[in-house]
Amino acid sequence: SDLSDELTKAIRTIPDYPKAGVQFRDITTLLGDAGAFRRTVDALVQPYAGRSIGKIAGIEARGFILGGAVAHQLSAGFVPIRKKGKLPHETVRVAYSLEYGIDEMEIHRDAVAEGEEIILVDDLIATGGTAEAAVKLLRQMGAKIVSACFVIDLPDLGGRARLEALNVPVNTLLAFE
Ligand code: IMP
Repeated sequence: SDLSDELTKAIRTIPDYPKAGVQFRDITTLLGDAGAFRRTVDALVQPYAGRSIGKIAGIEARGFILGGAVAHQLSAGFVPIRKKGKLPHETVRVAYSLEYGIDEMEIHRDAVAEGEEIILVDDLIATGGTAEAAVKLLRQMGAKIVSACFVIDLPDLGGRARLEALNVPVNTLLAFE
């Protein structure tokens, strides 16, 4: 579509970052473009317009920028899912695997109510490992995950299919092969 073409052009690609062979998709250029940022947020919220959403859960760190704007637009609350050790109150934690080794993410244990309707937001889905861990964390707290949305899909890495297998509908705005 015209919108995905516009947003694709607003994203910068950094070759060999953070290591050789990786093409890093850098959304800071999109965020810095007022029109592209506005249209990104509008497109992210569009599938949920008129629905009553309890909270947006954003994944550190770019999910905070997008998720905050989405929460405002939907008149929803915002809850941060952070790397371990950053949240000051009692947390629930989940481990997940990275390409090399494991990491952990956490959420405040009182951040989500039983049965609350949540949308998960991040900038990009690759293998889906990060989003899957966030889904587990939110479900462990009794949240109902309405959907997960991302600006960028890397379909070759299978993340969308992985979330859909967990019965999480996925919305993305554009893809890079
Ligand atoms: P996954 O767990 O393999 O789906 O990787 C997705 C996570 O890694 C998200 O939190 C992304 O922000 C981050 N990520 C992976 N590749 C990129 C990239 O090319 N650009 C920006 N973020 C990326």
